[in-house]
Amino acid sequence: MKAWVVEDEIRSILFESGSISKFYLSFLSNRIQAQDNEILEILLRYSNEGKLKMCWEVICPNCYDTVQKDICKGENDLDSRVICAKCGEEIDNIADCVVPVFYLSPEFKEYLKINKKKLQN
Ligand SMILES: [Zn+2]
Repeated sequence: MKAWVVEDEIRSILFESGSISKFYLSFLSNRIQAQDNEILEILLRYSNEGKLKMCWEVICPNCYDTVQKDICKGENDLDSRVICAKCGEEIDNIADCVVPVFYLSPEFKEYLKINKKKLQN
């Protein structure tokens, strides 16, 4: 699929419904015929533009429970070692267990809402 088609699909999924505030990469990769890295590239650009905020979650490799949520400063700020509260698994190599999570920025959501109203009038 061409990059601009991928971007169009991402835009229509994320921005047109008005109901999405938080999503994972898999939410898009399950719906769009594109590689994860192609989707991620566009999401990173949106993050730089302030449309999205990208954070991280640590997922336990043993029970898949979310061990840490909303780590938003960047991967370098992760604790070096955490223990899963659910199964007691010690997670030494956190970098292998993080997944990105994306939030629509409140300002951008507001902009979309206003813009939608304008289009309807
Ligand atoms: Zn666990």
